Amino acid sequence: MNKSTITAIPTFPQTLAQHKRSITRLKTSTLQINMGLLCNQECRHCHLEAGPHRSEIMTAETIQEVVAFAREGAFQAADITGGAPELNTNLPLLIREISPLVQRVSLRSNLTALSDGSHDPLRALLEKYRVAIIASLPSSNPSQADAQRGQGIFLKSIRAMQGLNARGYGQEGSGLELNLVANPTGAYLPSSQEQIEKKFRLDLKNKWGVVFNHLYAFANVPLGRFRLWLSKSGNLESYCQKLAQSFNPAALEGVMCRTMVSVSWDGFLFDCDFNLSQGLFMGGKKTPLSEGKPLLRPGAPIAVSDHCYACTAGAGFT
Ligand code: SF4
Repeated sequence: MNKSTITAIPTFPQTLAQHKRSITRLKTSTLQINMGLLCNQECRHCHLEAGPHRSEIMTAETIQEVVAFAREGAFQAADITGGAPELNTNLPLLIREISPLVQRVSLRSNLTALSDGSHDPLRALLEKYRVAIIASLPSSNPSQADAQRGQGIFLKSIRAMQGLNARGYGQEGSGLELNLVANPTGAYLPSSQEQIEKKFRLDLKNKWGVVFNHLYAFANVPLGRFRLWLSKSGNLESYCQKLAQSFNPAALEGVMCRTMVSVSWDGFLFDCDFNLSQGLFMGGKKTPLSEGKPLLRPGAPIAVSDHCYACTAGAGFT
């Protein structure tokens, strides 16, 4: 959040100081890899402003650096994200190379990038390496989902999930996880994750025969295209105030930056994907993968800014 436009709230560092708290690193167990900003969608809430016009993508050389970093870092999990990582033709290389180094690989998918027939070999590869799919779907209501993601996206997403279910994804006992991420379609905070999961489960099963494992409900972060929309619709100030007023010190314990490191498409380190979108470097300095290991020590400070209110509002964003 930009201090110059949001005047009625303290900055996030001021709030931390007021509560005599800080955010520091624990053992870093997850390596998040941003494969680039190229995407087949232009969602209204995207904090990275990814889209079809973006050309920034991770090269095969950078993937080799990521793999070397993973080998040294002894991470438990690799979390692959984008843009739409499926559009980067180097994705199979990354999956093949990183899978033997970690216990769990997950892929953040917008679903539609996986839905056309040309991705059959990729789907087979995901299945072979037991890659968990974490799919974003803002709402189980078609018109609300389309309003945020683009006309016709909801039905394409349903078709993709039906295809994944047919391969065993989301089916009990298959070991192939299909998890959903839902976020509000307007300038408000999500209601209880349990309630949202229950509604999605009923709607998707009854209307489309779709099943999934878990659902996570997160607040939208007022950055990138979502911030622009908030500003244009006159909601920016009130949304940011709502986030700040919902600050929950207990949520600081579980924020993802304490156990995760994010690597940008061009091979630099960040405490999280939101900091990445803001150019807020880990350790305050543009550090490439090859020099990044010392920054992962437990107790290292985390770069925070006012967008951290979105992670610490209510139940938090873990
Ligand atoms: S925005 Fe990033 S740095 Fe801030 S609390 Fe969330 S995960 Fe941590």
